[in-house]
Amino acid sequence: MTISLTPTARRAASLAGLCDGAVHLPGDAAYDAARLPWNAALDQRPAAVALPRTVSDVQAVVRAAAAAGLRVAPQSTGHNAGPLVGRGLDDVVLVRTERMRGVTIDPTRRIARVEGGALWIDATEPAADHRLAALHGSSPDVGIAGYSLGGGIGWYARKLGLASNSLTAVELVTADGEHVRADATQNVELFWALRGGGGNFGVVTALEFRLYPIETAYAGMLIWDRDQAERVLRRWADWAPEAPDAVTTSFRFLNLPPLPTIPEPLRGRSLVVIDGAVLGCDAEARSILGLLRGLGPEIDTFDRVPARSLTRLHMDPEGPTPGVSDSTLIGELGDAAIDTILEQAGPGSTSSLLSTELRQLGGALGRAPEGHGALATIDAAYAVFGVAIAATPEMAMQGQLDAHSLTRSLEPWSTGRSYLNFAENEVDARTGYTESAWLQLKGIRSAYDPDDRFLANHRVPRLFENGAVTA
Ligand SMILES: Cc1cc2nc3c(=O)[nH]c(=O)nc-3n(C[C@H](O)[C@H](O)[C@H](O)COP(=O)(O)OP(=O)(O)OC[C@H]3O[C@@H](n4cnc5c(N)ncnc54)[C@H](O)[C@@H]3O)c2cc1C
Repeated sequence: MTISLTPTARRAASLAGLCDGAVHLPGDAAYDAARLPWNAALDQRPAAVALPRTVSDVQAVVRAAAAAGLRVAPQSTGHNAGPLVGRGLDDVVLVRTERMRGVTIDPTRRIARVEGGALWIDATEPAADHRLAALHGSSPDVGIAGYSLGGGIGWYARKLGLASNSLTAVELVTADGEHVRADATQNVELFWALRGGGGNFGVVTALEFRLYPIETAYAGMLIWDRDQAERVLRRWADWAPEAPDAVTTSFRFLNLPPLPTIPEPLRGRSLVVIDGAVLGCDAEARSILGLLRGLGPEIDTFDRVPARSLTRLHMDPEGPTPGVSDSTLIGELGDAAIDTILEQAGPGSTSSLLSTELRQLGGALGRAPEGHGALATIDAAYAVFGVAIAATPEMAMQGQLDAHSLTRSLEPWSTGRSYLNFAENEVDARTGYTESAWLQLKGIRSAYDPDDRFLANHRVPRLFENGAVTA
């Protein structure tokens, strides 16, 4: 039997054999497993999936893709694969860096060096062995690359800022197939762009970032039944803007499914949860949290804990999980905004959202640190994120409607900007940056990727495209 290949499939076939045979094409037995993103609700179907193990594998794939006229989309885990799938991947080689997870900790310099596919848990555990902590987020299996290139808000964020601004070097394979290092002394403009500008500039093969001497934190959860939602949200909204930088918290309405993996007292319940961490002594932490604890939570787990435990504090799902979401940044949380959130997701609502979350911003997140990258600050008081489980197409549709409804209802308080790491649908990437940063990012993209080889989840265009200046 003769199989006739489409022109794109023929071009993609030219990559077969690279990465020691770990390039998978549609129709290969391994293609479906290789293309599966962390967000299992998404069906990404690239022209080929490459699973490099070394820098030279990545170089070979980028060069071969260019020769074949295909684009290249770097991906570590697929936590934020949504915008890519929305665009379509027919002419794209997906470069999954999941086999590049090496980590080295330099305890003297307090620097971690990780390969481009490392997960947060790969670095936080060995760092903790040296009594050091990184600016990881709420999930142990988010990729360090995608998280750090897009900003990165974790439990120390109000004290120590965005993870992107703690990067000290990034190594990547650029559009011409060269392997370059960008840091404070070489490829300085590229280094600036990579710190917030996402995966627009190449396939990142390694990152280096600062570690902090944090061995323990005063951290935990306060949990109430959903019928306490209004009381707790109003108190948190009063407390959060005045709270010192030492504390970073999140407020959530959670609708927990009746799964055996969820601890008995919480299983199948609708709850209000405040979790977070305080960097400070016990007395200081108790004083900071006093107002919230005064609301008499049903469960209070706040205590001094090893810093390594914070990677699982938020109970984020690990492994492939189907989800749909929407997010927004708001500048204030006054009475009218609180009423709106309660209406959308509070006790009386019929919302299908598993979680309606507000992350407390401000503190160091609002101050541009010296030598910062493209994302200097997050100029908002709260990041709002609504997510629903999308196990079936019907659940996906309802969940997406409810998540959109939440963010649309908060438009009167929106800052008009986006935090792109939390944007899991296609958005106008301009909204992720200040006007001057956007212009500079476009210039650096034009210089490093003149042929538009790389496809990021949130696309920074070149300065001129299709004969016109880009917006
Ligand atoms: C459960 C969950 C918890 C989260 N918690 C937080 C949190 O606490 N704080 C926070 O700030 N964000 C959080 N996020 C958002 C997260 O930071 C983004 O989804 C981020 O993009 C994930 O990075 P990734 O590499 O795992 O995902 P991917 O989907 O693999 O990558 C996203 C994009 O990053 C770029 N990229 C990834 N790897 C590379 C590489 N090797 N080279 C070049 N570019 C690359 C690409 O453009 C890619 O499209 C969370 C998301 C989820 C789903």
